[in-house]
Amino acid sequence: MLQKRLQRLEELAATKPALAEVCRFYAGLYQLFADAASFVQAEVDIEAATARQQQGFPLLSGDMLQIDTAVAQSFFADLLQVMKDHGQQGQNELQALQTALQTGRLDLAELLRAVLDRDRKPISETAEVIGVQPALLEYCLTTALGAGLQRCREKGLESRVQGWIHGYCPVCGGLPAIAELSGEEGNKLLQCGLCSSKWSFHRLTCIHCGNTDHDSLAYFTADGEPGCRVDICRKCSGYLKVVDSRERGEGLMLDIEDAATLHLDLLAAKEGFSRGKKEAPEV
Ligand SMILES: [Zn+2]
Ligand SMILES: [Zn+2]
Repeated sequence: MLQKRLQRLEELAATKPALAEVCRFYAGLYQLFADAASFVQAEVDIEAATARQQQGFPLLSGDMLQIDTAVAQSFFADLLQVMKDHGQQGQNELQALQTALQTGRLDLAELLRAVLDRDRKPISETAEVIGVQPALLEYCLTTALGAGLQRCREKGLESRVQGWIHGYCPVCGGLPAIAELSGEEGNKLLQCGLCSSKWSFHRLTCIHCGNTDHDSLAYFTADGEPGCRVDICRKCSGYLKVVDSRERGEGLMLDIEDAATLHLDLLAAKEGFSRGKKEAPEV
C-alpha cells in the first residue's frame, strides 16, 4: 500500500509541478505512518457504543482511548521533523513545539483525547502557553490522532451500525475530506478525513446540514480536472469534493485525490464555501 501511494504521489508531482512540494510532504507523512509503532488503542464497550450510535454519536469518544505516551511522543517528534523538513508552516513555531515536547509541556494523552472529543479548549490553552497558533497545534494533533486511529482500524476497529445517515464519521465523528462516486449506480461513499473510515451517503443531500432542496444544491467543476466536482450547498455554504472512480479509475486513494485537487478547495473558499462547521454532537 505504501509503495502504491508513493508511486501515485510521484506521478502527481510529475504532472502537476505546482503540487511537487505538497507531494513530497505527503510522501514523508506516509512513510512515517507506515514505520510508526502503534500508540493508540481503543477500548470499546460495543453494546453501549452501538446504543449511543443509534442516537447519532460516533463509536469512539476520548475516554475510550488508551494512549502509550512514550510512543506517542516519539511519533509526534518525528511528525514535527517531517513538517520542518518540508517547509510546512512556520519553522519557529515548529521549533517551539519541539522544545515543548522535549521539556514535557505537551500532555499528548489529554490533547489527543481533546481532538477526538472536538474540545478545543485544552488545545488553545496549550498553544497559548507555548506561543504557537492553535490551528498549527490542532493540525499536528489531528494528523497524529489520524495515524493512530488508522492503525486501530487496520487491527479491526469498525462501526457495526448499518445505515449511518450522518455526514460525519460513524467511528470517530470526523468530517469527510472527500467523497467518491463508484459502481454503475454511482453510489456516494464518504471518507473520513481523520480515521479514513468510509460510509455510503445519499447522493443529493448536503453532508453538512442535511439539506435536500435541489434548488439550493449545486456543483461546479474545473478545467483540466476530469471526474472531479465540488458539491455546494447554498443553505449552509458548505462544500464537498467528489471524485468519480468511473472516470478517474478504480482503486482511488482518496486522501491523495484530496491533495491532488487542492486548487478546488481554493476555488470553493474564494466563492465563500467552507468544508463545513457541523460535526458530530459533543459528547
Ligand atoms: Zn473517522
Ligand atoms: Zn448544507
